[in-house]
Amino acid sequence: MSRLRAVPGGQSAPQPARAGSMVKVRVEAPGKVNLFLSAGAPGADGYHLLTTVFQAVRLIETVTARRQAADLRGTITLGLEEPDPAVPTDATNLAVRAAARLAEETGVTDGVDLLLRKRVPVAGGMAGGSADAAATLVACNALWGTGLSQAQLLVLAAQLGADVPFPLLGATAVGHGRGDRLTPLMARGTYHWVFATSAQGLSTPAVFQRFDALAQDSAAPAAPADVPAELTGALRDGDPRALAACLHNDLQEAAISLRPQLADIIALAEASGALRAMVSGSGPTIAALAPDPATAMRVANALTASGLVTGALRADAPVAGARMVG
Ligand code: ATP
Repeated sequence: MSRLRAVPGGQSAPQPARAGSMVKVRVEAPGKVNLFLSAGAPGADGYHLLTTVFQAVRLIETVTARRQAADLRGTITLGLEEPDPAVPTDATNLAVRAAARLAEETGVTDGVDLLLRKRVPVAGGMAGGSADAAATLVACNALWGTGLSQAQLLVLAAQLGADVPFPLLGATAVGHGRGDRLTPLMARGTYHWVFATSAQGLSTPAVFQRFDALAQDSAAPAAPADVPAELTGALRDGDPRALAACLHNDLQEAAISLRPQLADIIALAEASGALRAMVSGSGPTIAALAPDPATAMRVANALTASGLVTGALRADAPVAGARMVG
């Protein structure tokens, strides 16, 4: 486990009076699937304006935040329950950045020891790192007794990354701007998803670059499209078949052009019973929507047996946003 000193000079700095008296806080936060993603042309800053619909899925990241040991007081340290070379444990980890940002905002210099239990596929377009950051904001806010409101945490979350606010909120929501300006959406019922994972991640910037290159060859609109009324209606009615018909991801073509095998995985998922399958976010995870749990099992088995995927994870949705447990 690597250690770092992310709150310089913390040991001797005076502490504000705070209510926090806990020694350990555990917070769970969900991964997400984009039910709809429309991207406009990039702005001067290179970022794309998006319209997206997020749904929180039961692939749950767990962050345990502990009071820092006396000899490490003032530092932010992070460990993984199951070490993974693809997940950094230094200051670049989004959870460490979240704790450091909250500490900076509130003037807390205690430091914290974070332990991550990861269940969202890494670099899979399902915002696992963002879920860790959201969970860390909630955990440290409780551990340190800093008492920021959810609205205040949402502001910090957006500063950490466009995908960080949604796992704070959970459930189903529309994202505007970079996807970080959220409005909750009414969704009835339970949706049964299968997520086909790949050993090799896809870089989100690389997928957007390919999206831009492809858009140059077509008459792509400058502004993202609105969420279709059919999609919000399907969610309101709790109708997975109607929802399947309006699932859409503007980044799918770009992700498939970088990883052509994704098209085969989509075709197999649909042939084995999925109502629809599509690239999740910037990929390479493929999200398949099944009509019921038994079909979800069949789709997962077919994907696993095909050898085309590294794993097939079943998860229902929607689920709640970051919350304390235990
Ligand atoms: P993005 O859309 O930001 O690329 P993603 O959802 O595809 O994200 P993540 O699992 O969130 O994938 O992480 C992408 C990369 O971010 C990883 O390859 C890793 O190098 C880095 N990273 C930083 N913090 C974390 C974290 N807590 N968990 C996983 N990866 C992290």
